Amino acid sequence: MTDALDLNDEPLRLQVQAMESAADGVVYAFADTRRFADCNARFAQMLGYAREEIPQLGVTDIHPPASHALVFEQFERMRRHEVNFIENIPVLRKDGSLFFADIAASGLTLHGTKYIAGFFRDVSARKQTEDALIAKRARLQAILNTAIDGIITIDERGCIESFSPSAEKLFGYAASEVIGNNVSMLMPEPYRSEHDGHVKNYLDTGTQRIIGIGREVTGQRKDGSTFPMDLGVSEAHMGTTRLFTGIVHDISKRKAIEADLIHAKERAEKASLAKSEFLNSMSHELRTPLNAILGFAQLLESDPQPLTAEQRDNVQYISKSGYILLGLVNEVLDLARIEAGRVVLSIEPVLLDEVLETATSIIGPLLKANALTLAVDGKRSFGHAVAVDHLRFKQVMLNLLTNAAKYNRRGGSITLRCLPAGSGMTRIEVQDTGIGIPYDKQPHLFESFERLGRENGTVPGSGIGLVITRRLTEMMQGRVGFSSEPGVGSTFWVEFPTAVLRAGAESMAAATRPQLAADQEHDNRIKVLYVEDNPANLRFMERLIGKIPNTHMLGTPDPVLGLELARAHHPDVILLDINLPGMDGYEVLRLLQNDEATCRIPVIAVTANAMPRDIERGNNAGFNGYVTKPINVPQFIALFQATVLGMERAAARATPPRH
Ligand code: ADP
Repeated sequence: MTDALDLNDEPLRLQVQAMESAADGVVYAFADTRRFADCNARFAQMLGYAREEIPQLGVTDIHPPASHALVFEQFERMRRHEVNFIENIPVLRKDGSLFFADIAASGLTLHGTKYIAGFFRDVSARKQTEDALIAKRARLQAILNTAIDGIITIDERGCIESFSPSAEKLFGYAASEVIGNNVSMLMPEPYRSEHDGHVKNYLDTGTQRIIGIGREVTGQRKDGSTFPMDLGVSEAHMGTTRLFTGIVHDISKRKAIEADLIHAKERAEKASLAKSEFLNSMSHELRTPLNAILGFAQLLESDPQPLTAEQRDNVQYISKSGYILLGLVNEVLDLARIEAGRVVLSIEPVLLDEVLETATSIIGPLLKANALTLAVDGKRSFGHAVAVDHLRFKQVMLNLLTNAAKYNRRGGSITLRCLPAGSGMTRIEVQDTGIGIPYDKQPHLFESFERLGRENGTVPGSGIGLVITRRLTEMMQGRVGFSSEPGVGSTFWVEFPTAVLRAGAESMAAATRPQLAADQEHDNRIKVLYVEDNPANLRFMERLIGKIPNTHMLGTPDPVLGLELARAHHPDVILLDINLPGMDGYEVLRLLQNDEATCRIPVIAVTANAMPRDIERGNNAGFNGYVTKPINVPQFIALFQATVLGMERAAARATPPRH
């Protein structure tokens, strides 16, 4: 085309020069034919042609057929000077590859011929970025549209910028109804006001009150109803402005489940309370008659008038059966207590040899009766300690040792072994040479009331010792297991966490036992007042006290009368039942303590309320002693004498002796 141009025409020469040096590709097309007349070097290079080849091409040669209609239309409009810019037009290179160009166009007439000059700028990179952005936005939109949680974006002032379809469903508003409004419209008071405060506070101070925290808040729907929701807020910086994205999750269902769980827990707690109330009364109801049975049997046994051999036999039967019954009652109550979660453990380092010494001495009579020998394997290792509840650990060991003795053969043996069990545990094994457990019965060993075929045998038992053993062991973070060969013997083992003992830790065994008072003669008769509503127990106590020299007992079933008797007679000791008609023992004790005339009289509780909680309450209330029924006669006498003796001594120190 330069040939066709008169380059002596100064403005034209300048224009051609400018065209040559332009960064864009420039092409001149005949306005009529859309064929090219000329181009600059950049244009030829952009399309991969030699510059001389360009005049052989036309507009249709450099655009893919699909764009021809558009290109023609735009070309026409350019010709009519209606547009001078088209964006993102696909352009074909000589090699068939495509790129995208923005085309700025201008028309010009030279020597009567109309041309369109097109300035091509390759925008493929920008187009790619734009396409990527569009794809990204589409993906984001898809996420927004399908997310179960509502997604809401707000600007710095709290105005809603976007509102996802899920948010529409959650709140009942269409996006168009909320966009541009303050997000607090989605919250009921007081959150509405608080929220604005939070946003302002955050903007002022940067202190996070709402950002990033998964909070439980209340949302308000279009219809005014509210619902609990989890709100997570994140912050994004867009240039100089900030944008907050809130993700809202409806937690109504979870809340309802939580409320159900809380109700269920409350119901369970009520049931558990009812269960322990039941246990308390069962404990009382069962022990009261047992107290009379065992007490009278003991009285008969120690009667100064000798019994005939047959009578002694009979009494021994009563006594023995009574104790078996007491054992059963205790076990059943113990298991029920454990199951009701009422056992409080106090875990401390306990020396193995001390507990095992006590346990083995307790089963001594059983060993003797069955001519059993007890061997301790690897005595050294018993110097170890385990982290357990002292009392309950002893109970576990006693259970295993008693079983090893009970289910042994005459003349057999029991071996106690202690060994490290790995993972910080210590294992204690109790091996017997007994009858063993039939293989088919072994899977049922730890089932309640399962005696594995021994129910009709001569060995007494309840079938819950091992259940208790396992529960207690597990409560103390221990394990229990066994192996048994019928006819050869069984080995039961327990494992407990090994404890580290401080050097010089005080020996448990060294703990002093209460010194039992020796028989003591008194010059004056000791006056005893017994308040007890059960006539059999009153009679029993009368006889029991009657056996203690120089004593005299006053008894009454009525607590009010008991108080009057106390004031009138100044007894040396008051024995007080707790469950009394009209006024319980605690109330009687309180009235005694508040009365100058009676406040110094020692009071011993004698009660069937034998739960640890009862005993603790009794001790806290200020009883000088707490005796549980059935009464253990020697222990009672010892406590009685110690109490009387203690009072005498105190009285001797404080006041002149009474006459
Ligand atoms: P109990 O001894 O009161 O019946 P346990 O729960 O202690 O109750 O034991 C359950 C049953 O397991 C026993 O009745 C007995 O059949 C069996 N058993 C327990 N220990 C042994 C043992 N060392 N040797 C053989 N059998 C045993």
